[in-house]
Amino acid sequence: MSGFQPVDSLNSPRFVGVPTFMRLPQAQPGDELDVAIIGVPCDSGSPFRAGSRFGPNAVRQMSLMLRPISPYRDHINVFEALRIADAGDANVVPGYLMESLEMAEAALSAIAGQGIVPLALGGDHSISLPAIRAVAKRHGPVSLVHFDSHADTWDSYFGGKRHSAGTPFRRATEEGILDPSTSIQIGMRGSLFRPDDVSQSTALGFQVIDTDAALALGPQALAERIAARVGGNPVYITYDLDFVDPAFAPGVGTPEAGGPTAREALAILRAMTPMTIVGCDVVETNPGFDGPGQITALLAATVALELLSLIAVSR
Ligand code: MN
Ligand code: MN
Repeated sequence: MSGFQPVDSLNSPRFVGVPTFMRLPQAQPGDELDVAIIGVPCDSGSPFRAGSRFGPNAVRQMSLMLRPISPYRDHINVFEALRIADAGDANVVPGYLMESLEMAEAALSAIAGQGIVPLALGGDHSISLPAIRAVAKRHGPVSLVHFDSHADTWDSYFGGKRHSAGTPFRRATEEGILDPSTSIQIGMRGSLFRPDDVSQSTALGFQVIDTDAALALGPQALAERIAARVGGNPVYITYDLDFVDPAFAPGVGTPEAGGPTAREALAILRAMTPMTIVGCDVVETNPGFDGPGQITALLAATVALELLSLIAVSR
């Protein structure tokens, strides 16, 4: 069993203590980890609602509800399979997106450079670019598995601004650190600014499966599509909580009506099959807009645990 174990919630109740993700130990320099949880509390890339700077700690708080064993994956104990610790947060400068993205890249590179898989908690979706840069330095260009109601492949915002929550995957494609021909975007829906808002993704080479198509396929067939698309390449999984219907995930930066339920969204993750995951993130949790009971933060924490479970069965 790994030495990196959560506080035992059967002996110490979950409301006691300083909440790291799932009550894991805080990472120390030199720890030999498989996965590091890292908050990236940057919301300076939000084109609409700011506030996801408070996402990482909201997710940590609700992650206290989670338990280590997954009944969806042959009862694997995630913390017996993987050495995981909470690496705290990247530092940021509020209002200074470029500086914040540089600081995030440095923090994520320190993790990825040791061969540790970063699981980043956002923050808005702009943070995926420094995360992909960090893992690509170690592993080369990645295949992206992207859950979101938006494609986030816009060229620019607000008069040529090239960095925002709406542009990370265009930038990563341009930088050659993401291979769109082996990448897949799932969940796009809703009204558009321009007719090509989604088709510009397919023009870049991404495969796009919109919300209607994803739900029509069902979890198993969709998981097969994902596996076929990424093959044996290094994979980066990015999960924008606005993939889920705002009835189940109201606390997000850019809500989009008509998405999957929490149950449908989790069923897709639980159907996904082993792949070479080199990094992942769960972004856009915005607790200031969350519903009673912190349902978005709870779902974000649950998504993060499903990603850890998938990494565990992939080893
Ligand atoms: Mn997004
Ligand atoms: Mn989105």
